[in-house]
Amino acid sequence: MTRVLAITNQKGGVGKTTTSVNLAAGLVRAGKRVLLVDLDPQGNATMGSGIDKRALNTSVYQVLLGLCTAQTTRLRSEAGGYDVLPANRDLAGAEVELVQLEHRETRLKSALLPIAAEYDFVILDCPPSLNMLTVNGLAVADAVMIPMQCEYYALEGLSDLVNTIKKIRQHLNPKLEIEGLLRTMYDPRNTLALQVSAQLQTHFGAKVYTTVIPRNVRLAEAPSYGAPAVNFDQACKGSQAYIALASELLSRCQLQAAA
Ligand code: ADP
Ligand code: MG
Repeated sequence: MTRVLAITNQKGGVGKTTTSVNLAAGLVRAGKRVLLVDLDPQGNATMGSGIDKRALNTSVYQVLLGLCTAQTTRLRSEAGGYDVLPANRDLAGAEVELVQLEHRETRLKSALLPIAAEYDFVILDCPPSLNMLTVNGLAVADAVMIPMQCEYYALEGLSDLVNTIKKIRQHLNPKLEIEGLLRTMYDPRNTLALQVSAQLQTHFGAKVYTTVIPRNVRLAEAPSYGAPAVNFDQACKGSQAYIALASELLSRCQLQAAA
């Protein structure tokens, strides 16, 4: 069974792309077949997987508009060991163009249908807003993973996201669930981070991953080498955390399958 995971948070800079790329690579290391879909016009997940966003013939933009298929657009990330449905600036236009099209919310879902079964996991790196691209991601996802920094406004933003997820559940995708909340760039010496982290656990309980991603400069450096940190420097603390996250995710999936 394929599991489609949307990595979502409407805040920018919380670690969505870093999580998408390193979780994808972590799952590959665990023997899983992974497709990473870049839904952000910034194309950071594409570049971070070692694929030049400026040299694409087609991208997820043309796929969403029905101008080409996911089969012909996907590329292999040699650095990551997974496939990528890449994105670049073209995708910024999709927001406007999709509005005029039929089935505008489920275009990604239709496009992924012919290839999804080839993968154990499809990871969707969502843009930093709750726009039509994110809606397309949430319409096809089985579950949402929410990376977040434990800072003052984090919880406020979270309630908007939870409301959006509820709406998507009602109108587009009844099976959508919150897979988990991931604390990123975590510094346990920071008192506020500890407080926010405790509040998260009170509100979301077991939905908060045990694995915490520390602030680690190697994670930030890896994209400039065009490789996930997990493959570029496996030993660093950040990579070890993402490898642990992949195994926590896999054991949660096994528990769910057994239930
Ligand atoms: P988003 O996709 O949510 O906008 P990114 O994954 O691009 O967030 O992360 C934002 C910035 O923070 C990037 O420069 C990234 O390299 C850096 N970063 C992400 N996670 C970490 C971390 N755990 N430690 C240090 N830097 C990080
Ligand atoms: Mg991003």
